[in-house]
Amino acid sequence: MSNSLVLVINSGSSSLKFALIDTVSGEATLNGLGECFGLADANVSWKIDGKKHEFQLSDNGNHHKQAIDRIVALLEEQGIKQDIVAVGHRVVHGGEKFTQTVKIDETVLQEIENLSDLAPLHNPAHVVGMRAAIAAFPALSQYAVFDTAFHQTMPAKAYTGAISSKLYDDYGIRRYGFHGTSHYFVSREAAKVINKPIEKSSFISVHLGNGASVCAIKDGQSVDTSMGFTPLSGLMMGTRCGDLDPGIIEFLLKKGWSPEQVFKELNSNSGFLGVSGLTSDCRGVIEAMEEGHVGATLAFEIFTYRVAKYIASYMVALDELDGIIFTGGIGENSLPIRSQILKSLKIFGYREDEAANADARFGKDGVITQANTPLAMVIPTNEEWVIAKESMALLHA
Ligand code: ADP
Repeated sequence: MSNSLVLVINSGSSSLKFALIDTVSGEATLNGLGECFGLADANVSWKIDGKKHEFQLSDNGNHHKQAIDRIVALLEEQGIKQDIVAVGHRVVHGGEKFTQTVKIDETVLQEIENLSDLAPLHNPAHVVGMRAAIAAFPALSQYAVFDTAFHQTMPAKAYTGAISSKLYDDYGIRRYGFHGTSHYFVSREAAKVINKPIEKSSFISVHLGNGASVCAIKDGQSVDTSMGFTPLSGLMMGTRCGDLDPGIIEFLLKKGWSPEQVFKELNSNSGFLGVSGLTSDCRGVIEAMEEGHVGATLAFEIFTYRVAKYIASYMVALDELDGIIFTGGIGENSLPIRSQILKSLKIFGYREDEAANADARFGKDGVITQANTPLAMVIPTNEEWVIAKESMALLHA
């Protein structure tokens, strides 16, 4: 294990996820979560040998720093701190500046902070986490891995909005795309499944979790993706609306809603939650649908219809298609969702293999379409592993 461990940190505004990844085996030897930062019950929890441990953070002070200090103490208690060779940080927005993983230094920190306009909830929180990690591990090299980087290969026709170019020039308004680390990883794994070099493989990758996006991947590179300037566009999600007529925003503003209310409605009260009126959780929606709940049934139908529409439209971005990839919590586990999406793609020849679809869940990958029909498969994503491996690769570059 020694010399192969990378600590992966995903620092949010009120939380901090961490995982210790063995870059040889791909295993997470330890993972945990700091939550409720800024509140009285801020805490850090982690699991060892299936047992959950929790540590309350003190009332005052910087909870990111406190959490990282506790993680350092935990690593010392476990006798593994000295085996960690690098720290990898997930960063949501790299704008057009970052097209690949970079080693973090003061200039990089500043540049990530400068992009805060584009990701006000995420980038400042990443920088707080990075500074705390640098203070805790001053001797280790630390790396930033960007959600947007994989999509920087999109052509202008995919990333440019049909709006005045002034908005791009003045504000950088364009499609950036997110979930890049996941689309990157599952496409590489899918190429192994079909036994083709990734540079010659084309996929439509469908990441369905609380956030959801589709990505058209041509010859291994992202050429279009459904999230845009922010993670609000594209598919319907747990609480986000996805694509929406922008005229609705003006309409609500004129009805007296504040911009903040509109933003909150579209980000936090929409999607599965808004349509079902019950829950943002896909499992809950499906259970209610099975009991005949009307709102849940409509939520399921809108969700699957929209995913299928995106898949169909992304065929235009490709010269050939080697397979559809399902990933993310829903994509990896939900049989009815995958089944309905494939039914909606019947016109293209997709035919579900029911037994294979039932089998591919809880971390199991596999092809879920019948032999001699177009290919769809399930590939569990592993963003932490990508972050760890990218960090390790740069460390040894
Ligand atoms: P995040 O985007 O927060 O990382 P995940 O990728 O963990 O989210 O996905 C969370 C979603 O996955 C939830 O909607 C949850 O209901 C769904 N999910 C997880 N397991 C199942 C399952 N067995 N069947 C259906 N949906 C599932």
